[in-house]
Amino acid sequence: MTDVTIRPAGRRGRPPAHWADLEAQEQLSLITDLGWPKFRARQVDRHYNQFSATPQGWTDLPAAERERLSGHFPELLTPIRTRSADSGATRKHVWQLHDGSLVESVVMGYPDRATACISSQAGCGMACPFCATGQEGLTRNLSAAEIIEQARLAHLEAADLGLGKGRLSNVVFMGMGEPLANYRAVMRAVRRIVSGFGISARSVTVSTVGLVPGIRRLAEEGLPVTLAVSLHAPDDELRDTLVPVNQRFPVAEVMAAADDYVVATGRRYSIEYALIKDINDQPERARMLADLLSGRIAHVNLIPLNPTPGSVWTATSAQRTEQFIRILRDGGVSTTLRDTRGSDIDGACGQLAAETA
Ligand code: SF4
Repeated sequence: MTDVTIRPAGRRGRPPAHWADLEAQEQLSLITDLGWPKFRARQVDRHYNQFSATPQGWTDLPAAERERLSGHFPELLTPIRTRSADSGATRKHVWQLHDGSLVESVVMGYPDRATACISSQAGCGMACPFCATGQEGLTRNLSAAEIIEQARLAHLEAADLGLGKGRLSNVVFMGMGEPLANYRAVMRAVRRIVSGFGISARSVTVSTVGLVPGIRRLAEEGLPVTLAVSLHAPDDELRDTLVPVNQRFPVAEVMAAADDYVVATGRRYSIEYALIKDINDQPERARMLADLLSGRIAHVNLIPLNPTPGSVWTATSAQRTEQFIRILRDGGVSTTLRDTRGSDIDGACGQLAAETA
């Protein structure tokens, strides 16, 4: 683990609405207020979609007005700390927002791709007891621009450091927060990432602990993003404890919504399952999970839990993990064990808790 950057940041006043947070009509009004023809909105968009957020350098726009426009491209994420691991291929960032809130994102470089794991909320209100972020509660939703900015900066980092093929290729909403609890901003961000940044919708993963109305709404968007359901338990009895929102949306309802997502999008969904020692890793739970997924178009990602400091929740043994995988595969369930990139920098799923110390 290497500390690369530590930079204190002060609290700033609320910036003007970022260009990416404006509705199309509001963008047009801004452009016409500047006395520009409407087509300039497309020029501005084109620059931003090419990962530039500094209007001063956009020389195809009138120089005198670029300054006014730059107010709508404020610095949204102030770097507080960057830590790297995996010989520099995994980089975790802590960012400060204008109101002092802290969020995190992780960039992971692989030979064939560069993936950004980004946050949709500061903190999280879902209170999963094994999750570092969940212990802090929800501070606030992020704006679309604050979400997009994490992806934009991840792309620039991938290009600078030659991560993956030198560009961002995948985005996963598995950082801090429950994406479907900040639906509007997340969808606006997804659309910008797909239509603007040109990342395939299939390479964008939206995770959820199972907010059924959100899954159903997502299915109607006409965007074939990958849906990842953080299940963590196949039965309501255990899941009520591990994922408290299960008391509102039980397993059967979540699975039915995910199945309908397959019908609407033609996309297989993934089931995220953090293996927690002696809690949800028993062979009988593997069999219950195999039964639950029998005949469903789903893939299981098993995640070795990354213990957080002071937590009673610990990782399953390698032997138990292998047994769990074997039972699922014998039951005909497509299963992989997710690599825990960044676990030594607390950057794996459920470990983003914006620590700056
Ligand atoms: S596991 Fe996800 S949904 Fe649950 S508390 Fe953590 S960040 Fe929130």
